[in-house]
Amino acid sequence: MLQWRQVQKDNFTKMEDLGTFLGLDLSYSSSFPLNLPQRLASKITKGTLEDPILKQFLPAEVEESPPLSFLKDPVCDTSFQKTPHLLQKYQGRALLMPTSACAMHCRYCFRQNYPYHANTDFLKELEVIRKDPTLYEVILSGGDPLSLSDEALKRLIKALDHIPHLNLLRFHTRFPIGIPERITDTLLELFEYLRLQVIFVLHVNHPKELDEDIFSALKKVRCLGIPVLCQSVLLAGVNDDHEVLKELFLTLAHQGMIPYYLHQLDRIKKGHYFEVPLEKGVKLMDKLRGELPGYALPKYVQEIPFESSKVEVIAS
Ligand code: SF4
Repeated sequence: MLQWRQVQKDNFTKMEDLGTFLGLDLSYSSSFPLNLPQRLASKITKGTLEDPILKQFLPAEVEESPPLSFLKDPVCDTSFQKTPHLLQKYQGRALLMPTSACAMHCRYCFRQNYPYHANTDFLKELEVIRKDPTLYEVILSGGDPLSLSDEALKRLIKALDHIPHLNLLRFHTRFPIGIPERITDTLLELFEYLRLQVIFVLHVNHPKELDEDIFSALKKVRCLGIPVLCQSVLLAGVNDDHEVLKELFLTLAHQGMIPYYLHQLDRIKKGHYFEVPLEKGVKLMDKLRGELPGYALPKYVQEIPFESSKVEVIAS
């Protein structure tokens, strides 16, 4: 078995095992089950529930009493489906979701209820993309596209590479944060000879998630001329703190990665306890603006269904 698959197999998926590891009594379970890589678990402070990594992954009892304004599909993904695996929300770009699988399960994930179908050939999706010359970019998101095997990824990205009107191929991924071993030489070779310009968008929320192995894996990606942009979700009790965000954005910039978006939480059912009021987010960003260079300051954005782009959140 490939090394990264073996690492993934060792993820914590049982609450009892994680509880024993952390010295905590964890008994609650959920329909969106625990899935946490060992690497992230090893960074959690033991014996407390107040850890910014643990909070992102631990199913919590409070999930069971969601306010009515928090929805199963808060960004109306299903209204934008061109096929079961292909969405188009914005001009020129289409979002292809090749898998439901992820390296980890983030409690606030807005796509945790998406009606994924098993599919390995993506013939319908490729056909729609081929027939639409207005598209110039395909975004692989999901799920996490790096969950696919190298063979499946190769088939898909080679097919996309042969579509002449496409110029950009974006990967939305959180995989390297949990399992940087996924950035294998075979994966890097796949990118090396593509006509398409590849862009990575890494999902990372807290400086504690980062380490040297992750930096070195992503440096290999950058060395191929692939920009690594970063996106974070503003999460109550995790990173809604000026010092935490400052450290996160500066660390990423120092490592040659570009903080790109700070997202307001999408109002996903059962994720309500992560919501930070917009006013607080604006204040945090105002303070950071006075302290960080422009390239280290992401845009604070919100997805509002049926708007033609993400909406920047600014002081009213
Ligand atoms: S890695 Fe991304 S897609 Fe997967 S559960 Fe987390 S937020 Fe959702």
